[in-house]
Amino acid sequence: MQYYIQHFTAGWQSLLQQITHPGWGNFFWLLVTASVIVFALELLFPWRRQQRVNRPELGQDIFYMFFNMFLFPLLGYATLSAALANSFEQSSFVQSLRGIISIRALPAYVQIILLFLVRDFLQWNIHVILHRVPFLWKLHEVHHSSETMSFPVHLRYHWAENIIYRVPEYSVFLLIGSNVADVFIIYAVSLAIGHLNHANLRLPWGFLKYLFNTSELHLWHHAKKVPSRFGVNYAISLSLWDWIFRTAYNPAQPPDAIGLADEPRFPKKFLRQLIWPFGPR
Ligand SMILES: [Zn+2]
Ligand SMILES: [Zn+2]
Repeated sequence: MQYYIQHFTAGWQSLLQQITHPGWGNFFWLLVTASVIVFALELLFPWRRQQRVNRPELGQDIFYMFFNMFLFPLLGYATLSAALANSFEQSSFVQSLRGIISIRALPAYVQIILLFLVRDFLQWNIHVILHRVPFLWKLHEVHHSSETMSFPVHLRYHWAENIIYRVPEYSVFLLIGSNVADVFIIYAVSLAIGHLNHANLRLPWGFLKYLFNTSELHLWHHAKKVPSRFGVNYAISLSLWDWIFRTAYNPAQPPDAIGLADEPRFPKKFLRQLIWPFGPR
């Protein structure tokens, strides 16, 4: 308990420090800046012009952004992951493996690109599993429940996804060796790409759509009617994996409707959404 209180206090102070000290190396202001820029782009150059800016889920989506990025870690998850990471790092298994597969001797930019690729491929696989395992799909339904797409939908997801995605990711980062500055760059780039591919924007990606996830591809990921049983376009930042594993779907026209198909019972309230996956089928 003492340990938890110490971590909670430290976490809260660190968040306050971030909020009161705007700067580039700071997650709070990174999120605010990326959101303001993408929101301005959505207002200036909307892709689906009929989409209302003040849509019903806007407030809840914005709350989800701050909840998943800052509040949920404060509630204990950061404490638990710091403790787990520490014992994982100290284990003799990790220590011995580190000597063999460490990437620290490589040039900095190669390390960043490698970590980005490894993390994104890991996330792509986790995302595929979220769509295929019935209980995990119930968790992931929170992300797919939005019926209009705009940048904050990027971080609208069930709290358990923080754990499902981060535990394997942190383990890989600890195993192959990464430093905080590189991880910050990777998170910043994926935050920007995630905001853009959920935004009501259509950017001229050209042939880069075979490498990066785009709003056109990701809109089909959220379609009510998908052309495959479990879904299409599982990309997080890189669409590359979908093209390689033939899960990419990129027709000329956008889908008719987005959101959950056949799930009229999905709750509208945040607190009910938190417990939704644990309720009856
Ligand atoms: Zn999904
Ligand atoms: Zn999405």
